[in-house]
Amino acid sequence: MRFFFPDSQDFVDETFDFGSETRSEARVRQRDDKYPHEIFAVAPYDGMLVSKAVVDGIGGGSGKYSAAQRQRFLRVGVREYFRLVHRPLATMGDCGAFTYVRETRPPYSAAEVADFYEDCGFDYGLSVDHVILSYRADLDGQFPGVDTVPEAWRSRQDLTLELAAEFLNYSQRKRYRFTPVGVAQGWSPASYAHAVDVLQRLGYRYIAFGGFVPLKTVDILACLKAASGVRKAQTEFHLLGITRCEHVAAFSAFGVVSFDSTSPLRKAFKDDKNNYYARERMYTALRVPQSDANPELLRRITAGEVKQDIARRLEQRCLQTLTAFDRGEATLDVCLECLREYERVFDGETDRTAVYRSVLEDRPWQKCRCEICQRIGIHVIIFRGAERNRRRGFHNLYVFNQDLRRHLGEMECAFVRHAEGDERQ
Ligand SMILES: [Zn+2]
Repeated sequence: MRFFFPDSQDFVDETFDFGSETRSEARVRQRDDKYPHEIFAVAPYDGMLVSKAVVDGIGGGSGKYSAAQRQRFLRVGVREYFRLVHRPLATMGDCGAFTYVRETRPPYSAAEVADFYEDCGFDYGLSVDHVILSYRADLDGQFPGVDTVPEAWRSRQDLTLELAAEFLNYSQRKRYRFTPVGVAQGWSPASYAHAVDVLQRLGYRYIAFGGFVPLKTVDILACLKAASGVRKAQTEFHLLGITRCEHVAAFSAFGVVSFDSTSPLRKAFKDDKNNYYARERMYTALRVPQSDANPELLRRITAGEVKQDIARRLEQRCLQTLTAFDRGEATLDVCLECLREYERVFDGETDRTAVYRSVLEDRPWQKCRCEICQRIGIHVIIFRGAERNRRRGFHNLYVFNQDLRRHLGEMECAFVRHAEGDERQ
């Protein structure tokens, strides 16, 4: 089972000084920065997934490339750009279908996308697809002989399959070296099985499922079950945007060999509560926003509700007390008091004292053996600015990968036990 990490320009500046919060002026963004696979001794993923839409800057999403970065990516290719040349990591390209989900047609032709994958040296390339934003398992066989499926869903699936046919023909005619991956879009178990069936007939042996992100695990499993009914023995499946480690054995039984997701990274700074992964649970990061950059705090300062110098003083006291706590020079109660006092200033509605108490009592960053926690200590769990928040995301990737390996190990053990049982009979 391989885990692909989707690129969204997530790198950190190694010259960043956590005490003074300054960085080297000579640093060039991206070129001098570090990706997770450059920070950890062992990369916390098996490969990277790169969207053409992100590189092109379509849809204005996060992680857009500057014009200079885009040009360099196109010139040197995916392996050199991400500094993967001597690393055993795979590269997968896709179109970034979510960025154009509201358009009637994808903004790319099959040939243009295939050229992009080949020119940039990808190992795998996904066919051009169009996401169907609905899931209705009840439409399968509801009224035999009557088509109750909305026209728009069917036409998106047909278009995705037509583009997959064009994409495969074109790449084979041009003798392109990347492995083509057909994308299956659907709205129900039977419709996904239909897409897989058509893609196999076209000649695809690696098929990615799109549109699974909002689905419940039980629905994903129903689709995979239906698809595995038509799956040929050599066909392998990829899940787009899915991280549900605990179901990895079930996914694998249906032919899934790989998946990708940004979730471990994003949770570090997008989730209300679960920001820091640990083996048995997740922790909430300690909010110490920048007093000169936090939008809510700036609003209150402008409205005259809060004095800027007071906010600044509370903020600095939090940072100093927390680093002292990490060295064993401040008590837990003093930390909680500082955090609470500052929290009142930037967030009048929430009191996180109880969750913070459990974080500080457990000190999970001192138990974690990853390079980030070892190097920056308590800063990893302080919710503040991209340099800390992204490093926490990197730590989450590390923990997630360990978790995945453990689940896979258990799965193999179960398989061996099963095989040994068979032999004895
Ligand atoms: Zn860690």
